[in-house]
Amino acid sequence: MSTENVVIFKERKDQIHRKGKEPFEISCNKESLAGAVSQRACVFCGSRVVLYPIADALHLVHGPIGCAAYTWDIRGALSSGPTLHRLSFSTDLQEKDVIFGGEAKLYRALVELIDRHSPKAAFVYSTCIVGIIGDDLESVCKRVSQEKGIPVIPVQSEGFKGNKREGYHAACSAMFRLIGTGDTTGISPLSVNILGDFNLAGEIWIIRDYFKRMGIETVANITGDGRVEEIRRAHGAALNVVQCSGATMDLAKMMKDAYGIPFQRVSYFGVEDMAESLYTVARFFSGKDPEIMGRTRELVKEELSVLYPQLQKYREALEGKKAAIYVGGAFKAFSLVKAFRILGMKVVLVGSQTGTEEDYQELHEITDDGTIIVDDSNPLELSSFLKEKEVDVFVGGVKERPIAYKLGVGFCDHNHERKEPLEGFVGMLNFAKEVYISAVSPVWRFVPRKTGRKYH
Ligand code: SF4
Repeated sequence: MSTENVVIFKERKDQIHRKGKEPFEISCNKESLAGAVSQRACVFCGSRVVLYPIADALHLVHGPIGCAAYTWDIRGALSSGPTLHRLSFSTDLQEKDVIFGGEAKLYRALVELIDRHSPKAAFVYSTCIVGIIGDDLESVCKRVSQEKGIPVIPVQSEGFKGNKREGYHAACSAMFRLIGTGDTTGISPLSVNILGDFNLAGEIWIIRDYFKRMGIETVANITGDGRVEEIRRAHGAALNVVQCSGATMDLAKMMKDAYGIPFQRVSYFGVEDMAESLYTVARFFSGKDPEIMGRTRELVKEELSVLYPQLQKYREALEGKKAAIYVGGAFKAFSLVKAFRILGMKVVLVGSQTGTEEDYQELHEITDDGTIIVDDSNPLELSSFLKEKEVDVFVGGVKERPIAYKLGVGFCDHNHERKEPLEGFVGMLNFAKEVYISAVSPVWRFVPRKTGRKYH
């Protein structure tokens, strides 16, 4: 099946939409097509993304060593204190364990690791093979928890049981077992939990600082630079602010049902969304503190007066260039579309691994005619779209980087491997710098896309 000049599996056709050609309709949130080599990660990886930034917890992968390859080095999460989360542990299940069961090995591994590292809690991740052989994680975790006196929590994240979204849900369910077990005495009535930021490059410190300047206490980071004790008392916060469409929304809903804590969706990327997120939180608390809105306006004004003059030179250089976006959650894509507009750039392709119908509807509304909107794409499709649209900069994660470089297209990592914070007002400046450096690099003069040589 062909859409324009791009070869597409016929089963995937309804997951791709070209704005302007026909009424908007897209199929999404379903299993990946076998053989299409989806960019998606498995359920276990989804759960690990969410829980791994809890820095004083032990994270033990119950499965073959290969599953544990996705370590801190691939997806770093910065901590201002303990760094136990940087160590990767696996029960390294072998053929014999698969035949006779891995529970005894899991018990021994947990006991040894807890004795050696004294974590505040332990998370045990179930992988594909554990789901198949049926090890009882719940009972092993319960036993170790009683013996060692810390929460030991199973994460039901068998890789095969769905897509990455299922992993988010498994992580939220595991974390929910911690919440409500701590003392909430002394928490301010103006208080929030920050959900859905993983502090990949220190972003959560920027956001915490904004809230502090607004007069708001942050009770728990969920989960960037996270601490077990903070998460245990998170049910004492007045509001949950939730970034990212998929990862921690389930937890926010669980906390609303169980503790009556309302939540607000926010995004800290780009100028408009960052400012609007702070105003959203200020509006929520304005009944309790009538001056909070004034303080927030002052904060935004101060930050913009520094940011805008510096953005100008990047905008002049980038005006008219074309950008493509492919990210995990679609919520981030909304902010990126707006951020590119501030830089004078045109978004010609936007897609995500886990977007919902509402997410894509919103993308359809904020993008220009001709933009390709794609769900759960693969390298072949993405390469074809990049070539067809003559993209100057591709924004994605670790799996999209080689696609861009092989085609001679600039790349900006907006995911695991970023080293500069891209959130907050200062993050917008860092983003502009990264896009500029990559898009105008002289190296692209020597690659096949520019020289007209054939691809092999
Ligand atoms: S859990 Fe399953 S799909 Fe995920 S890495 Fe392990 S074997 Fe692969």
